[in-house]
Amino acid sequence: MALNNRFKALEELQKRQPRKVEFPSGKISDYYGENVFNITVMRSYLTSEAFKSVKKAMLEGYRIERHIADQIATAMKDWAMSKGVTHYTHWFQPLTGSTAEKHDAFFKPVEEGRAIEQFEGQLLIQQEPDASSFPNGGIRNTFEARGYTAWDPTSPAFIMGRTLCIPTIFISYTGEALDYKAPLLKALDAVDKAATDVCQYFDKNITRVRSTLGWEQEYFLVDAALYNARPDLIMSGRALLGHSPAKGQQLDDHYFGSIPERATAFMQDVETEAYKLGIPVTTRHNEVAPNQFECAPMFEEADIAVDHNLLLMDLLEKTAAKHNFKVLLHEKPFPGLNGSGKHNNWSLGTNTGVNLLQPGKNPKTNLRFLTFLVNTIKGIHDYADVLRASIASASNDHRLGANEAPPAIMSVFIGSQLTEMLDKIEKSIKAGKMTPEDKTALKLDIGKIPQLMLDNTDRNRTSPFAFTGNKFEFRAVGSTANCSQAMIAINTIVAKQLKEFKKDVDAKIAEGIKKDEAILKVLQDLIKSSKKIRFEGNGYGEEWVKEAEKRGLSNLKDTPRALATMKTKAYKDLFSSQGVLTPREIEARHEIELEAYTLKIQIEARILGDLCQTNILPSAIHYQTDLLKNIKRMQDVFGEKEGKKMAKVQIELAKEISTHIEAIKTKVDAMIEERKKANKLEDAEEKAFAYCDNIKSYFEPIKYHSDKLELLIDDNYWPLPKLRELLFTK
Ligand code: ADP
Ligand code: MG
Repeated sequence: MALNNRFKALEELQKRQPRKVEFPSGKISDYYGENVFNITVMRSYLTSEAFKSVKKAMLEGYRIERHIADQIATAMKDWAMSKGVTHYTHWFQPLTGSTAEKHDAFFKPVEEGRAIEQFEGQLLIQQEPDASSFPNGGIRNTFEARGYTAWDPTSPAFIMGRTLCIPTIFISYTGEALDYKAPLLKALDAVDKAATDVCQYFDKNITRVRSTLGWEQEYFLVDAALYNARPDLIMSGRALLGHSPAKGQQLDDHYFGSIPERATAFMQDVETEAYKLGIPVTTRHNEVAPNQFECAPMFEEADIAVDHNLLLMDLLEKTAAKHNFKVLLHEKPFPGLNGSGKHNNWSLGTNTGVNLLQPGKNPKTNLRFLTFLVNTIKGIHDYADVLRASIASASNDHRLGANEAPPAIMSVFIGSQLTEMLDKIEKSIKAGKMTPEDKTALKLDIGKIPQLMLDNTDRNRTSPFAFTGNKFEFRAVGSTANCSQAMIAINTIVAKQLKEFKKDVDAKIAEGIKKDEAILKVLQDLIKSSKKIRFEGNGYGEEWVKEAEKRGLSNLKDTPRALATMKTKAYKDLFSSQGVLTPREIEARHEIELEAYTLKIQIEARILGDLCQTNILPSAIHYQTDLLKNIKRMQDVFGEKEGKKMAKVQIELAKEISTHIEAIKTKVDAMIEERKKANKLEDAEEKAFAYCDNIKSYFEPIKYHSDKLELLIDDNYWPLPKLRELLFTK
């Protein structure tokens, strides 16, 4: 018999060698950012008028005039061409979740068969990509035709390969955002205004507040040959079938272990390219599961950090190909093993260099710290469902609540010492005017925060939204997600809350209450009214599910249910009041998310059915035929009765195989029937629910029977690389 794909792949694997890494000469700082059209490059390529104008646009969001844009375009082109670049593209973040680009050449044929290189301001500022196939949730009817991309000067242009990439936003002709970037920039603007206003209570020098993001990206590496022999990995990004290997992650021996040589070479290559793109990756290590890794950069302003995360995901995939690896960014590529997430560390930083979630040095700066801490908690309390919806996806559903990642219940962890502090404020401020003694006592307490924080070592790893000393860590974000979704939600929520806080404090001040006292009183109210979102215990425990239910917290276990909140008035009011998304944009996004969900489950169901029918069942039948031949031969040699007795094990095996074959076939057929029914549904939400409740439920039972067969039949016949092979190859 010819080798099946699995054995061909395993044979190929024997020949693998770590790829030799070529490091650029010099220190990292010598080539860091060399492929970025950053402020330093601009200074040398632009006239001082153009430089001032673009710097203002980058830092303060000013519009750039046409004649300046022409100068910038020419400078960008000259700089890029000096680095061997031939093409340019508007780089944007459509709602598909990945990035999009359409390359155009700088060169232009002119008379007499010659050509020149050209790039004008108009091409820099705006383009009309043929975008009819990007998701638009019904916003862009055919008569409205195309959307357009518009240059976002706040993100620097960069070079990927031989192409100059210009970060842009993507909008419809009627002005609706069709991407993640436009609403992100609006949310950042909203939180900037709201937080700056609140900062005025504490420091008049604070005129700008920026949201910061430090992401941590987890991923798996598998050998490309093995990957290519797994149609489920190719089509859906995850193994839909496969018995857990005898050794999984029980020994916890992978976490922080030494990184295998092939993987190290891969990471070094990724990092070199990342540095050239100005992505400040500083950390790499093994994760919990075998062949799982993580990398994390220094935090940056949220919009830049989002761009860098998308670029890094792209680099991971491109570089993996060079090393004969495939990188799996899926949230749950392997059943039975930990999946991958993308922690989003979030904070707010001021133009004066202060981290607003960093406890201060004195009572005044600590009151500022408490203000931002408590307002964040209150915002998450009021809009926990919005936060949940921001991380909802078919692939992330596998993680949330599966005792490896935070539960689908949103809660906030702040540690025992801050809890004590908030309890104190909650109890010690009495109604009516505060006495000078009350004030002094409270000031003393508030002044103690930095010392408290220093020895505050309790770190809850099971909380979806945990305070970690000087920032919040949102741990429920999926590894494939565009961080924008989480960042849009958090920053919009906090913006809204801070505005309300300011209104309430100002009202108290107008009543004649002193500023600090007014702030404390409002904080006290917020602490009280947001108490139920705070949870310090084990988020993975069954008790928490019960407790959360008692508290009235939502536990939205799957995507269609999590997304339903997008239909509510509260959701629409939140985003439209902050100028981030209009109700029409929200409706479109809801539909797009539902469609994406349906499509993902549909693809999984198709490939699962296909694999069963064309790989698993034939292999099982093949082996069963061998068994039957053996039984028959036994009887030929030893006589019917004696032969049957002697072939008892073979007969039992053949029967057992039949049971699983039948179970798989019946379930696959039933699943196909359900799919046909679901496909007839017109309404996007109904359809998503049908896929969630009636189709996805077949996956586990089908896998169960297939995994049983994997344990029964001759290893030589098994067609798909086994999980142990995918996971333990170095
Ligand atoms: P760990 O949580 O592993 O102990 P750190 O606390 O140093 O490590 O930081 C984890 C992540 O948090 C890093 O990606 C870092 O860039 C990010 N981070 C640190 N400070 C901030 C901040 N002020 N805003 C956003 N992210 C931050
Ligand atoms: Mg972390």
